[in-house]
Amino acid sequence: MGCESSNSAQTELNGERSGNKVLVVVGPSGVGKDTLMQKVFDNHPNVFKKGVTHTSRKMREGEKEGYNYYYVTEEEFLKMKSENKFVEFNYYNKNYYGLSKMELESQSKSDKILYVIIDINGAKNVNKAKIPANYVAILPPNEETLNERLKGRGTETEEVIKGRLETAKTELKEIEKCGFFNHKVYNNNLDEAVQDMEGFLKKVYPDKL
Ligand code: ADP
Repeated sequence: MGCESSNSAQTELNGERSGNKVLVVVGPSGVGKDTLMQKVFDNHPNVFKKGVTHTSRKMREGEKEGYNYYYVTEEEFLKMKSENKFVEFNYYNKNYYGLSKMELESQSKSDKILYVIIDINGAKNVNKAKIPANYVAILPPNEETLNERLKGRGTETEEVIKGRLETAKTELKEIEKCGFFNHKVYNNNLDEAVQDMEGFLKKVYPDKL
């Protein structure tokens, strides 16, 4: 899927807008999206809210509906999927996970900035669905660093890491092609990357940060 819509009217909608309270964060696996956004969130806990995804997996002890996930049955999930209600979905460990358009649209009624960490295809779907959003790409300083971070995380096997790196290369090319990103953050030094991200957010949301 290309970025055909990047030249359409939606591009105008995607100009940095303080009214666009959805913040879409995209970047290859291992680049540091979670780490970076967690820091931004910790620095401004009353400003941001992380988008909640739907899942068909059973609720675990200590989890809360609408906080960790929205819990649905597999049938309900598949019905939503067939109705094109997700911008992104995955099947992992026999369970479905998906971010709904509804969740993104719900933000228009709230003061908080809702951030979602999704892949480039998910971002294209948000763009296609004309949900007003700001888009930030998190990029690695170079391929070697990305490789090291994927290894350093220690959660995946060598084979999985190899696959992730290949996917990352494709994803980086796709990000380059898409015209709807408002900002790019190179995550070399983490503190500097957080500052860079916050600098962008201050510009877009001057009354919030
Ligand atoms: P993602 O959410 O993009 O998959 P993570 O946030 O899980 O990536 O980060 C991947 C690994 O890289 C983690 O071990 C994290 O601690 C590390 N990391 C993140 N940012 C940096 C950075 N700027 N410098 C060094 N290591 C980093």
